[in-house]
Amino acid sequence: MDKISIIVPCYNEEKSLPLFYEELTKHTNSFENTEFEFLFVNDGSRDNTLTVIKDLLKNDSRVKYISFSRNFGKEAAIYAGLEKSTGDFVTLMDADLQDPPSLLKEMYKSVTEENYDAVGTRRTTRKGEPIIRSFFAKMFYKIINKMAKLEMVDGARDYIFMKRMVVDSILSLKEYNRYSKGLFSFVGFNVKWIEYENVKRVAGETKWSFWKLMSYALEGITAFSTTPLILSSLIGLLFCLVSFIFIVIIIIKTLVLGDPTSGWPSLVCIIFMVSGIQLFSLGIIGQYLSKTYLEVKKRPIYIVKDTNIV
Ligand code: UDP
Ligand code: MG
Repeated sequence: MDKISIIVPCYNEEKSLPLFYEELTKHTNSFENTEFEFLFVNDGSRDNTLTVIKDLLKNDSRVKYISFSRNFGKEAAIYAGLEKSTGDFVTLMDADLQDPPSLLKEMYKSVTEENYDAVGTRRTTRKGEPIIRSFFAKMFYKIINKMAKLEMVDGARDYIFMKRMVVDSILSLKEYNRYSKGLFSFVGFNVKWIEYENVKRVAGETKWSFWKLMSYALEGITAFSTTPLILSSLIGLLFCLVSFIFIVIIIIKTLVLGDPTSGWPSLVCIIFMVSGIQLFSLGIIGQYLSKTYLEVKKRPIYIVKDTNIV
């Protein structure tokens, strides 16, 4: 009998969890000859999420939970879930029903009958999302796909259905700064993509503010590309070239026309611009250095406070 683990990262999801559980079990009940494990990862919620999970556990022994000591972020929750999952197949789902459980059957079929190793999902629309957010998301995918050697699929969700083999490969990547979409693309394998229209969250609110998303985007870029470093070197080179041309022009002007360069305003502008670019480049180097710093410390990715997994 096949066992499927469903990992659900939860942060302040007391309102959506009961709805999610009901909808999920409606679909999982129609599976034959399969066993399920529902692995809820409580990522340091401040509301009653943990109590709600424990209530579900009372009537359903398939419910497993891991509760963190504080909020470690969705990436940490995903990692913990993958690490503790025991199924032959594993899938990741948001607690807000934005990842439709109705796709589970199709995903399972693709992996067991069609020779795929994993099934990914992508949203074709971003309906219901603020326009600015969609715009920046589009920009992000354009930039990261130019810079990184791996392909990041635009609109890809974390809703992925994987064989054990794929899970083990993702777990073998032990890095601290985790960008799951990149890690998934890094491990490769034979992936089928399923598309669906964006669904609005059933209850509660999104946990991603604009700035949180921005810093997540930066994380993705620094984790999978070193192009910004090359870019800052190139800009430096370009500026050397420009200044060399200017030096020659000024020398010739002074010697031939006897006309000493006048005007400090232009000088001030140049100083501002060049020092701005220097600081910008330093910032880029700093980004990579800070990531290295965190990697070197080897801090745990998450800390468990409570769990029913023995
Ligand atoms: N989440 C989490 N830790 C966090 C933020 C979010 O575990 O720090 C979970 C959240 O409970 C949800 C999923 O990650 O199950 C996706 O979050 P959300 O729906 O807020 O993101 P969006 O769909 O708006 O991108
Ligand atoms: Mg959501």
